Amino acid sequence: MNSSPKYVYVFGSQRTEGAADMKNLLGGKGANLAEMCRLGITVPAGFTISTEACTAFTERGRAAVLQMIQAEVLQGVAFVEAEMGKSFGNASDPLLLSVRSGARASMPGMMDTILNLGLNDEAVQGLAQKSNNERFAWDSYRRFVQMYGDVVMGLKPLSKEEHDPFEIIIETLKEKRGVKLDTELDAADLKELVQRFKALIRARLGCDFPTDPWEQLWGAVWAVFESWNNERACVYRELNDIPASWGTAVNVQAMVFGNLGNSSATGVAFSRDAGTGEDLFNGEFLVNAQGEDVVAGIRTPQQVSLVGSRRWAELALISEAERASQYPSLEELMPPIYQQLLKFETLLENHFRDMQDIEFTIQEGKLWMLQTRNGKRTGAAMVRIAMEMLKQGMIDEKTALQRVAPDRLNELLHPIFDPKAIKAATLIARGLPASPGAATGQIVFFADEAETWAKAGKAVILVRQETSPEDLRGMSVAKGILTARGGMTSHAAVVARGMGKCCVSGAGAVHVDLKAHAMTVGDMVYNEGDWISLNGSTGEVLEGKVATKDAELSGDFGDLMALADKYKRLEVRANADSPADALVAHNFGAHGIGLCRTEHMFFEGERILAVREMILADNEAERRKALAKLLPMQRDDFEGLFREMHDLPVTIRLLDPPLHEFLPQDDANQRVMAAEMHVPLGKIKMRVEELHEFNPMMGHRGCRLGISYPEITEMQTRAVIEAALNVRALGVHVKAEIMVPLVGTVREFNAQAEVIRRTAATVFAERGETLDYMLGTMIETPRAALIADSIGKQAEFFSFGTNDLTQMTLGFSRDDAGKFLPDYLKRGIYEHDPFRSIDQKGVGLLVQMAVEKGRSVRPGIEVGVCGEHGGDPASVAFFHRVGLDYVSCSPYRVPIARLAAAQAAIAG
Ligand code: PEP
Ligand code: MG
Repeated sequence: MNSSPKYVYVFGSQRTEGAADMKNLLGGKGANLAEMCRLGITVPAGFTISTEACTAFTERGRAAVLQMIQAEVLQGVAFVEAEMGKSFGNASDPLLLSVRSGARASMPGMMDTILNLGLNDEAVQGLAQKSNNERFAWDSYRRFVQMYGDVVMGLKPLSKEEHDPFEIIIETLKEKRGVKLDTELDAADLKELVQRFKALIRARLGCDFPTDPWEQLWGAVWAVFESWNNERACVYRELNDIPASWGTAVNVQAMVFGNLGNSSATGVAFSRDAGTGEDLFNGEFLVNAQGEDVVAGIRTPQQVSLVGSRRWAELALISEAERASQYPSLEELMPPIYQQLLKFETLLENHFRDMQDIEFTIQEGKLWMLQTRNGKRTGAAMVRIAMEMLKQGMIDEKTALQRVAPDRLNELLHPIFDPKAIKAATLIARGLPASPGAATGQIVFFADEAETWAKAGKAVILVRQETSPEDLRGMSVAKGILTARGGMTSHAAVVARGMGKCCVSGAGAVHVDLKAHAMTVGDMVYNEGDWISLNGSTGEVLEGKVATKDAELSGDFGDLMALADKYKRLEVRANADSPADALVAHNFGAHGIGLCRTEHMFFEGERILAVREMILADNEAERRKALAKLLPMQRDDFEGLFREMHDLPVTIRLLDPPLHEFLPQDDANQRVMAAEMHVPLGKIKMRVEELHEFNPMMGHRGCRLGISYPEITEMQTRAVIEAALNVRALGVHVKAEIMVPLVGTVREFNAQAEVIRRTAATVFAERGETLDYMLGTMIETPRAALIADSIGKQAEFFSFGTNDLTQMTLGFSRDDAGKFLPDYLKRGIYEHDPFRSIDQKGVGLLVQMAVEKGRSVRPGIEVGVCGEHGGDPASVAFFHRVGLDYVSCSPYRVPIARLAAAQAAIAG
């Protein structure tokens, strides 16, 4: 028996070694190619070199991996030769191969692909004879040299304006010939291109283009392995949390040709709409073209289905007559092929029970499937597809909930353009609605500039002729993306949808002039820095900034949320400081307020004056006078919160930040304050000086303020209790929870608890009525977590302030960590930003321990979290596991947390 490890897995009509459940080993593409063969779908034969070979390549290099896989690759090629009835390297009837990457998770366009491999000066003649099409043969060859020269040999542009040196040669030749389209070049022109490309390679790289097919094949395999670690793949992995250790597989497959004349075509299609989720099969194809032509977006593609085609024409303002004659759908153009494609698509969607994104080629009237995968989609499409597949009985409730990535709900929650504002706006151009949403920003034309501008806090719209994987970083920081070329499946469209970013593609009227850093539409010129707006749901490009309005949350979204509530155990509250925030939170389904930061109420309108008066006060009597002015305002705020939340809990935290935050730190504003308050400037400056701290986060803040100035605690308690009594009189079932911040010792808590209880008792005596309220503490210093059992004897609830707890446990300043954290993340010292996703091993352990300690002395003590982590799906899963009662997060993250809580419960 042969016990050496296996690295190569063949697939074809006669024999298939892989299957869909082997994605870790074969990558998504390889595993699904094998699965399609098993389903009896026509797929060009090929083989997959496993991800383990890639990992070995990264660790041990070429020579070692060549030894490991060489014999198997030889056998793989022999298998393909037998299946296709051609031989590799044969000059008269050559077998040509494609070599493509394929990782476990799909990373569209991030890694490398080589097509038409096996061609050289002899084989091109054979191909010409065999296909009886000289132009096709030379076109295949020039594409191969171009791709191989770029990807494997590494011929790159000398400057960003040069963009693509091969394309410049093509453009120059077209100008010389007086033609506009690549398709107008004849066989002799294409032959000349091959020669010029080779000359360019020799001149720039100092070596010849390889003529030996085997040398070509190995070069391509290594290039794909190397591309796993190229810059754009690394960025994509970083953005999508894909570990570097996974590696990519390499798929080597017989070429089929969509560019063999008018009975040939190539295209991509989605079993449901990737933008909206509608159950509509459609896609794009080009007659007489190769796959790269569809994705590159150079020619205007036709639509696959008739319904899709009619919709497309409507948006593009093309009449039915023009559509039917110029851009007929595949359904009209090749009805039997369309029916077969529809059959495959239905088979695949039912088999994988998810929306499929498929690639196909039609070679002289025969349909070949080249790829199927679960399609990337917008957040809105995720929700709709999950809920419709549930209704259609294709998936169960738990699967439907797991199909939606919680973070992607963000896209549905954020504002859309106000229809009134759109009506008033000037339409510049129309493109395709490639990725929905609303975006307003300043024009930039280069991805690196998008990054620089975004870093400077500017909102940018990246405008490109078409995007390429190099633009990824710029795309990720832009508010929206506009391309002049490209269809719904162009790189820009696919990547933008994956990112949930607004994108309008193929706005043909837009001319991008990279040299001038400007775009023109008709007579109008828009320069870098000008404002434009994009409506990714309609494809409109609008002049200037356009106003937005809140999204509507009903239909499938509402159903999904109801389903999430059915499965989740964790409650979700919101961090809300004003009645307006509370209303948003309530609409998003918050089960109460987990944190009201009372200090946020201090900044509004007249209040800041009273706050400043309190800070400037020389003695307790003066301070009390100023606090008396604040009391009615705070009481009003609390009444608003209680009313909005009705019978749900509202947790109000006592004043937390250091007092210097309420005073102006610069001279000009100090002068304004002096004039407004009629106090000497010197007094203000002196107080600012006194309040100055070297490390305010560890300074005079939290309960330390209430210990120094108990009258502040008294005022705030009185405001809470009076507000609660007032709204109770209106029939509201108030559940007030008063929370002490930044406690580190039992005595600190007790000192504040004494003031609170005494004040509440005074108010009850004055009013002649009482009310139940809870008195608890934040756990946000490591010491509080360590002694949570002692604190739990006194406090009726815990709320973990994981922002401070992270800061103090890691010793990372919340305000300064941004300076070094990116280095830490890049080097893998921390896997995630610990302020975004809880550090489960350290800070998380403290949380878990404090919960156990709290419950050991007070079984059933209410425990929640109100740091930023409350809205992070991975952290929510952790909080579920350690048994918290609720998470509290910003209102816009409430639906995300609800879904994450349901997924955590399903995961068990
Ligand atoms: C926390 O520290 O996690 C918290 C919620 O309080 P703040 O962010 O206001 O310090
Ligand atoms: Mg805190």
